[in-house]
Amino acid sequence: MAENKIEMIGVNKWFGDFHVLKDINLTVKSGDRVVICGPSGSGKSTVVRCINRLEEHQSGVIRVDGVELTNDKAAIATIRSEVGMVFQQFNLFPHLSVLDNLILGPMKARGLSRAQATDRAMHYLERVRIPEQADKRPAQLSGGQQQRVAIARSLTMEPKVMLFDEPTSALDPEMISEVLDVMVSLAQDGMTMIVVTHEMGFARKVADQMIFMDGGEIVESGPPEPFFTAPKSGRCQKFLSQIL
Ligand code: ADP
Ligand code: MG
Repeated sequence: MAENKIEMIGVNKWFGDFHVLKDINLTVKSGDRVVICGPSGSGKSTVVRCINRLEEHQSGVIRVDGVELTNDKAAIATIRSEVGMVFQQFNLFPHLSVLDNLILGPMKARGLSRAQATDRAMHYLERVRIPEQADKRPAQLSGGQQQRVAIARSLTMEPKVMLFDEPTSALDPEMISEVLDVMVSLAQDGMTMIVVTHEMGFARKVADQMIFMDGGEIVESGPPEPFFTAPKSGRCQKFLSQIL
């Protein structure tokens, strides 16, 4: 097992002529909690999407648990099987029950029997505190509950790293804390995670490393204490003053 769960070294990406990621360097050690913030369009989603190859980088090196991300299909499959991702939109299958949403991956990708997958699914539904919703369809749940199902679904694959891309941005305000509470408890259990969020209360509570992106660059990074109290760059100061 590699000590560095994620390494990005000099990563660049273009969408056509548009240079969206500029020389990104990022190291996430086992058990680290990294929070990425920054204005809309700064490249935050693109960074996390490159890590599980939803987007392809054009130069530099990305390694996940020691495996380099290249066009090699086996490497991509290995990496995807170790990285869980939770999006702003929950992406649950609407025609399936919550339980069926959760057992699909473990049965198809991990070879579990239906009974084993059901046990595992119920374990993680309890972990996100909604086991009683197992037989409902996603549309019968609140947004906060649906996002907790999406987190549980990721956990059923027992990933080594979890990526969260603005997981509470689509939620009504009163549902944000139930999702953040689940994420805090995952962090306390030692999950390695990268979280794109503007929830700075959450960030202060769990982050080991804060990253501020602007214009496709990491403009500022470091531990939360100096980051929040004494940001060095003007761009980061301005951003924090707008959201805090
Ligand atoms: P953020 O998550 O910080 O809001 P994104 O990573 O989504 O930023 O996007 C960064 C920039 O790249 C934005 O200007 C966005 O419009 C652009 N972009 C994102 N995806 C694509 C794409 N598939 N094709 C072209 N441009 C894109
Ligand atoms: Mg985004």
